[in-house]
Amino acid sequence: MRNENLTQGAFSFVNGSSEMASLIRMKNWSGSPLGALESWPEMLKSMIATVLASPFPMHICWGKQLFLFYNDAYRPILGSTKHPVAMGNPIGDSFPEVWEQVGPLYQTVLEGQSVRHSDRELILNRNGSPETCYFDFSYSPIIGRGGQVLGVMTYVVETSVRKFAEIEKLKLSKSVYAINEELTTSNEELVQANEELMAVQEHLKQTINQLEESDTSLRLAVEAADFGIWHIHSLSRDFITTPRLRELFGLGHFEKIIIEQAITQIREDFRDYVSTTLENAIYNNGEYDVTYPVIGLNDNKLRWLRAIGRLRADPSGEFSDFTGVVMDVSDIKKDEERKNDFIGMVSHELKTPLTSISAYLQFLEMQISKAGADNLQRPVARVIMQVRKMSKMIEGFLDLARFESAKIQLNREIFDLAGLCTELELEFADQIGTHIIKFSGKESVMVFADRDKIAQVINNLVGNAAKYSPNGSTILMSCVRKKNIAMVSIQDQGIGVEGNEQVKLFERYYRGENNGTIAGFGIGLYLSAEIINRHNGKIWVESEAGNGSTFWFTVPLAN
Ligand code: ADP
Repeated sequence: MRNENLTQGAFSFVNGSSEMASLIRMKNWSGSPLGALESWPEMLKSMIATVLASPFPMHICWGKQLFLFYNDAYRPILGSTKHPVAMGNPIGDSFPEVWEQVGPLYQTVLEGQSVRHSDRELILNRNGSPETCYFDFSYSPIIGRGGQVLGVMTYVVETSVRKFAEIEKLKLSKSVYAINEELTTSNEELVQANEELMAVQEHLKQTINQLEESDTSLRLAVEAADFGIWHIHSLSRDFITTPRLRELFGLGHFEKIIIEQAITQIREDFRDYVSTTLENAIYNNGEYDVTYPVIGLNDNKLRWLRAIGRLRADPSGEFSDFTGVVMDVSDIKKDEERKNDFIGMVSHELKTPLTSISAYLQFLEMQISKAGADNLQRPVARVIMQVRKMSKMIEGFLDLARFESAKIQLNREIFDLAGLCTELELEFADQIGTHIIKFSGKESVMVFADRDKIAQVINNLVGNAAKYSPNGSTILMSCVRKKNIAMVSIQDQGIGVEGNEQVKLFERYYRGENNGTIAGFGIGLYLSAEIINRHNGKIWVESEAGNGSTFWFTVPLAN
């Protein structure tokens, strides 16, 4: 039987306008275990009325079976699947998924104790799928007049939203913490990187300071030494010069100078030599350390300059920068000139009496031979040999003086260099009886050179070969043509020269460490090198200490 109009009397406990009151009223209870509504115990009705009237989510569970009655405020907790079936049915039937957890709590309350939980987690299946929910609830017993427990009164609030917010907050603060940690770490790394950067910066600062210092010292040194500086671009041939360099070439500080003009200012007898050495330095990375006289453009003054340069390839590999310093060595040159004049004068003065001595000795030799004074022949021959040595020495000094004062001119002619060697081979056979001297070249090699000067070089080299090798050993001479040059070699079986000394031998007054007590002045090879250089040739030695030496020189072929 429906209870629609029964809002009075026995049904007055459900006469409210709430949805749940209406549901209870509408339900046919006669077939239910609780029986018809009017037969319900007064206590139950009054409890239901209390629950329905509460704006707070409440329910009661009546009897041992725990028949559930709830209010409108509680209804959302049941979701879309548990309501309305749950109303008036045992609560355990509506919450099978959590009954293992909450059943024992109800049992405790039925035994007379209250239960209270905060944020209790329950996984409910109320909207078609399991859902984690949180609740604050308190269960308390409904006590009958006789003190017996009739059911359970429940206040329940779903705290899921707040709990989730808390969980999120916790997660968030954990990740914030983690981010913070990471930030702290990166901060520490940043601090470290910063410290390293500062150290690098400090180092850089120091390096820059050092660079500035060395730059300043270099500038001061350049200024103190009165050096001029230049750069030549290998492709454009731009000639960048400092004011001092322009001054050394007799120009005003701000006047422009190009490389070709600088070369025309070099005195004629040095011009070719400097120009060839310069081109060779720029394009073949050759050595550049030259001393030459320059006529000042505006002041017409003669200055001796020494220039030292070095080629530096650009990292692109496309061009090079040939850079260097130039200094005024006129005073040194003047001193040298004075010294040379003195050497020249003394040598010249010595030459005259020596020539007479030579002539008298030859006359004496003839007279001794005529008179048959054999015992005097040997000593006179010795004296003649010593005088010849002395003459050669004086001749060398005279040559040196002439070279230094640039008074030596080359008298070039076309001649057969191999022929000259053959001639000299015969002369050596007469003059140098201590060694076997052989010339191996038989083909003629025509060259364009100063015959006397080249003969002087060969004389020097063969003389040295005899001087620095044991008596009785062989000296081999050769003369060959190679591409556009003639090459002459003089090979001995003597004491040889250490590798590090080989270049120095050609310096003026240089005497090797190897020669012990062998007398000399260290000018023979210097003069030879000067002569060969003036011919645009090359001179060098191949040797090993203790294993003999081969001296080579080249001169250009006749065209
Ligand atoms: P000098 O012979 O008067 O010392 P040079 O200029 O002719 O002067 O030679 C320079 C140096 O070169 C010599 O002192 C010697 O040490 C070395 N030298 C020259 N020729 C030879 C040679 N054929 N073998 C070994 N050393 C040599």
